[in-house]
Amino acid sequence: MVQSALTHLEGSTSGRRYDADRLATVDPVDGRPLLARYDVAAAARTLSREALARRRGRLWRWTELLPLRDPRHVVTLGEGGTPLLPAPRLGAALGVPRLALKAEGLNPTGSFKARGMAVAVSRAAELGARALVAPSAGNAGGALAAYGAAAGLPVTVFMPVDVPAANRDEALLCGARVVLVDGLISDCGALSRRVADATGAFDVSTLKEPYRVEGKKTMGFELAEDLGWRLPDVVVYPTGGGTGLVGMWKAWEELATLGWLGPQRPRLISVQAEGCAPLVRAFEAGAEEAEPWTDAHTRASGLRVPSAIGDRLILAALRASGGLAVAVSEDAIDDAQRLAGRHGAGYVSPETAAALAAVADLAARGDIGADEEVVVFDTGIGHKYPAPAGLPTPPVVAADEPDTDRLVALAGA
Ligand SMILES: *Cc1c(COP(=O)(O)O)cnc(C)c1O
Repeated sequence: MVQSALTHLEGSTSGRRYDADRLATVDPVDGRPLLARYDVAAAARTLSREALARRRGRLWRWTELLPLRDPRHVVTLGEGGTPLLPAPRLGAALGVPRLALKAEGLNPTGSFKARGMAVAVSRAAELGARALVAPSAGNAGGALAAYGAAAGLPVTVFMPVDVPAANRDEALLCGARVVLVDGLISDCGALSRRVADATGAFDVSTLKEPYRVEGKKTMGFELAEDLGWRLPDVVVYPTGGGTGLVGMWKAWEELATLGWLGPQRPRLISVQAEGCAPLVRAFEAGAEEAEPWTDAHTRASGLRVPSAIGDRLILAALRASGGLAVAVSEDAIDDAQRLAGRHGAGYVSPETAAALAAVADLAARGDIGADEEVVVFDTGIGHKYPAPAGLPTPPVVAADEPDTDRLVALAGA
């Protein structure tokens, strides 16, 4: 029978072992993230590459290496299974012709937050959560609201007052209670914790519960599968809480334990905005932990995370991979967003644009070779954000414009 091979939760720093079958938040000894551990040998009894190829259900095909005990508890809106799209025109413009984009904007709710929330909400419901609460800088709140509604659980989201309107409206439309906070995502996190403590609602803050990272780890599984069970030279990831980086690193370890991958790993490149770059600062200082960033500001709301609880795990993975952490300016984000659209990548989010801007910088200074295979995580759609600066103002003509020369001057291709 195909079932989860989940065995226990493990303190990511303490190494202590905890029961996985009750609702858990962080490691009680040090407040650090808990990670789900599996009996990979047991998983291998039913999980083969051939079996996987025959299964339906996108992200949920990875049953053995996901935490759900009972498939009836799966809450799905169709997340995962996104395409890895070659982007040769954009790649050539950035100096890396072998560029591909993992199109995470095709997920429900328009971002990869859907992966994490699908798994976390399903598992919280399975373990008896009665209500859910979380802080969100943008896409997480909409995703939590959507999955909470699908699970029939009440949701509360704390968001900064200047969150993109589409994220706020998405959460409201899905029936969540939304509280706007005159502060940052870290302040929202503290308020969520207080509400969770006072009401018994389950706090789904990323890496403060063990299963959002399990949902995001499926990006690492899929990338290996997309490439025929190998990995690219470089993976570029716009980083806020860093859940995807931690998740993919974990996924590749699990695949290596299954014997489906060798020791080769991509160089992981974490991209932040210059206005909020705590991981870049820590990486450059050679530190194991990141100090909180003050006055965090960037239009890429998903990157406006001044302090990530997964900092140690992220920094360790970047270094073990031989990777880097780099920051880009707001102007570079705007430019890259427009460039991506003109070169066939569609209307990407400012977060994706930050990653693309970093690729151009790194290619120009030789940190990424022109012959290397580079995968950028296109983490969300651009439609949920205000447009970038620098778009032209379209001309207006009368419906019966009489002057064809004028019309051609305005509209001629
Ligand atoms: C949340 C978010 C990110 C950052 O993801 P983390 O895994 O938290 O680092 C990047 N892009 C978009 C569009 C997001 O919503």
